[in-house]
Amino acid sequence: MTKKNLLKFNLDDLKKEFKGNNIKGFRAKQVFNWIYRNGIIEFPKMSNLPQDLINKLTKNYEIADLNLNKKLIAKDGTQKYLWKTKDDNLLESVFLPYEEENRYSICVSSQIGCSIGCKFCATGLDGLTRDLTVSEIIEQILKIQIDISKENFGNPKITNIVFMGMGEPFLNYDNVMKAVSILNDKKGFNIGMRKITISTSGIIEKIKTLAEKNQQIGLAISLNAPNDQLRNKLMPINKKYNLDRLMEAVNYYIRKTNRRVTFEYVLMKGINDKEIHAEQLIALLKNKLVHVNLIPANPVPELDIKRPKSNVAQYFKKRLEDNNISATIRVEKGTNIKAACGQLRASYQNGG
Ligand code: SAH
Ligand code: SF4
Repeated sequence: MTKKNLLKFNLDDLKKEFKGNNIKGFRAKQVFNWIYRNGIIEFPKMSNLPQDLINKLTKNYEIADLNLNKKLIAKDGTQKYLWKTKDDNLLESVFLPYEEENRYSICVSSQIGCSIGCKFCATGLDGLTRDLTVSEIIEQILKIQIDISKENFGNPKITNIVFMGMGEPFLNYDNVMKAVSILNDKKGFNIGMRKITISTSGIIEKIKTLAEKNQQIGLAISLNAPNDQLRNKLMPINKKYNLDRLMEAVNYYIRKTNRRVTFEYVLMKGINDKEIHAEQLIALLKNKLVHVNLIPANPVPELDIKRPKSNVAQYFKKRLEDNNISATIRVEKGTNIKAACGQLRASYQNGG
């Protein structure tokens, strides 16, 4: 019999699951507490459980979908984790500490590979292999929290989760949202909805679904091009959902939730970094409740993507701000360990 991974359950589901196995409800609470409040994932170490229950749990359950394959630590403290799944696929997560702000962020993957095939992204190079399961999503975060904890579990505590790793989270919507609800559980990790951000290439049905749920979750849109012609070329998804439809969905999201939406704009040398692009970006976003995150491209040699000079990002920021559009330039993190999601895996698969 294959063992079930416990991380796919929120507390209510775990109670039901245990009930079906003749295990009392309060045991679910204890086990949940061991996992998410103490970082204990081996049943024999759950010291308030009787031995026969430990035996039963060991026989039926596990928390072992991901094995650490490689961990890289950059000079600036960024840590990249390369995991191997049970079916021998590789996926990545990145830990980003911002100690001065007491912010500890994790960039998680939602799929193995990606079907969208953006022309600048290492993840999309080989297409989509499969969706991640709920437990594979949660296990990335739990195991990193265990790994970074110093004297005691949760110190430092992961404060922010961004779905900006490998994959398109809105094409694995149900598993991603279930994982979000588990991370948000007050009796578990207790990460506030406002501290969780989902980044999408623009799957508009799901933007609308999320708007209707009216949860306080953060939404980021990978824009990367300010006109349809260029976006069609860079992000094939634009042929399905063009900028008009994307902006209509974003406007709807803002109206419903009153939350500011982030637009990510990866600056690529000679591609989307000219003055005309800045002006088109302004025209697209002016007078909206939005923020622009300017991201100097991480070079992808296989795709001939290069980073523009740093004054280009400064220029975009200034033009946006002159037009009352708030903008930041993403601080570069972990470049020397290929921290851009998808890059480490790509270089491993190519023997690099
Ligand atoms: N699929 C989702 C989430 C994962 S991609 C999405 O596209 O939003 C996360 C971010 O990485 C996106 O904003 C994407 O534009 C960015 N990205 C992809 N390739 C990059 C590169 N070469 N350099 C910098 N950022 C990149
Ligand atoms: Fe997929 Fe996002 Fe990469 Fe595009 S940028 S290929 S949507 S992971």
